[in-house]
Amino acid sequence: MTIFQAIESIIEPQRFIYGDLLSNEYSHIWKMEEGLNALGLVKVKSTKELSELLKICYKHNQPVVIHGGKTNLVGSTESTKQELVISLEKMNAIEEIDIVSRTMTVQAGVVLEEIQNKAREQSLLFPLNFGAKGSAQIGGIISTNAGGLRVIKYGMTRQQILGLEVVLADGTIINSMKKIIKDNSGYDLKQLFIGAEGTLGVITKAVLKLTEAPTSRISAFVAIKQYQQVVDLLKFMDSHLGGKLSGFELIWQKSYETMTGPNYQKPPIPHGYPYYVLIESLGADPLNDATHFQDLLEQSLDLGLYEDGAIAQNEADLQWFWKIREDVHVLVSQGPIDQHFDISLPIPLIGQMVTKMYAAIMNLKGVIHCFPFGHVADGNIHFIIIKQNSDEALTLAINDMVYMPLQEIGGSVSAEHGIGTHKKQYLSFCRSAEEIALMKLLKKSMDPKGILNFGKII
Ligand SMILES: Cc1cc2nc3c(=O)[nH]c(=O)nc-3n(C[C@H](O)[C@H](O)[C@H](O)COP(=O)(O)OP(=O)(O)OC[C@H]3O[C@@H](n4cnc5c(N)ncnc54)[C@H](O)[C@@H]3O)c2cc1C
Repeated sequence: MTIFQAIESIIEPQRFIYGDLLSNEYSHIWKMEEGLNALGLVKVKSTKELSELLKICYKHNQPVVIHGGKTNLVGSTESTKQELVISLEKMNAIEEIDIVSRTMTVQAGVVLEEIQNKAREQSLLFPLNFGAKGSAQIGGIISTNAGGLRVIKYGMTRQQILGLEVVLADGTIINSMKKIIKDNSGYDLKQLFIGAEGTLGVITKAVLKLTEAPTSRISAFVAIKQYQQVVDLLKFMDSHLGGKLSGFELIWQKSYETMTGPNYQKPPIPHGYPYYVLIESLGADPLNDATHFQDLLEQSLDLGLYEDGAIAQNEADLQWFWKIREDVHVLVSQGPIDQHFDISLPIPLIGQMVTKMYAAIMNLKGVIHCFPFGHVADGNIHFIIIKQNSDEALTLAINDMVYMPLQEIGGSVSAEHGIGTHKKQYLSFCRSAEEIALMKLLKKSMDPKGILNFGKII
């Protein structure tokens, strides 16, 4: 029996797509018009079915690429004509919400925004939040250990996961769907799959940890002249807000002025300052939290920590402020080709390093714009670089300018987006030879035939 016949024996025709019909599918949300380059695409509908499918692939040495919401920024959902794509989009049920244990049990294909909304209906919070929330699926989010806009208060995805169900390369189902917070009974196996970018197993279900929903949300934009003020303001707000600081997003002048330029959102504070910071506090005492936040902003103005500021006065202002920060597609759409970075580096060094990197990148022929912004409180900065062409020499020259300096200062080439295919050759800039050898050993023992997301990370 050929592999196609074997797949057709277990999957209904409308969920096994190949040939010309692949032109209606795509590998990334920003490449919808390009069609999917693959041997075929299977949209699985259950864990059992996925297990049967992987058994077939394993037997036929068939490499597979896993698709979640296809919002990654590291090329990890691209495939070749030899690879079978497996999509989790049909496994999109929220199976349970337990308001006493404060957990939600979901299938891998549920989209982040749906999880946020479901939790909110029960006055609970699933704290992960980032610009791609309308498309990114929880399976992809867990596989990339996504970060986002509230890591300073709640941590990365890893901190929000209590249990997982995973299917290994040979079809074995690993069920670790516990709701408990504490479990020291041997290795914490679920951690192996979180951030593994689908190279060690396919996530099919998860138990998510929820928290009580905050009842106050306050945000302000401030404008700043010098980077040292950013650092001092962060320390001041964090130390006085008593655990309520949930967002501290830094946007450089060029990025802010583009995000609030003509045809986009209007600027809450005028253009012309080197830095803009969007601050968020989440608490449980609406009246006093607002007054306290306002007092702190006034005190920090008196201390000379910023130059101008605007507090969101109502829900519409909150939406407006955060739309500016979240809608990075505005930056992406400023030219034909975009290149993305999400580096980690020590907070005190960010100002000077970004200034140097910015100048070096803008000097390169073929670069149109360089847009820095990021989660400064996590030491995580993004660059979106807009170029005239996709010339490989230019891509590599930009990579060198961003990644080379990170080695000396103990930074990371990926704070949250992962390695995928785009950053594979730079992994050794931030992980030792011994660490990479251990990663390879793990991959070899869990997927000896190398069929799962082959060539990603290592
Ligand atoms: C506008 C925008 C803003 C973004 N902001 C942030 C941000 O602030 N923070 C951040 O961390 N990321 C951000 N991202 C990147 C991206 O959204 C995240 O990496 C997200 O977690 C990817 O989820 P996904 O479902 O789209 O995964 P995909 O892109 O489909 O896949 C990502 C990786 O996970 C694998 N995978 C997918 N599903 C599964 C599964 N069920 N089991 C095993 N492997 C799987 C894929 O093979 C691939 O290797 C942003 C992206 C965009 C477009």
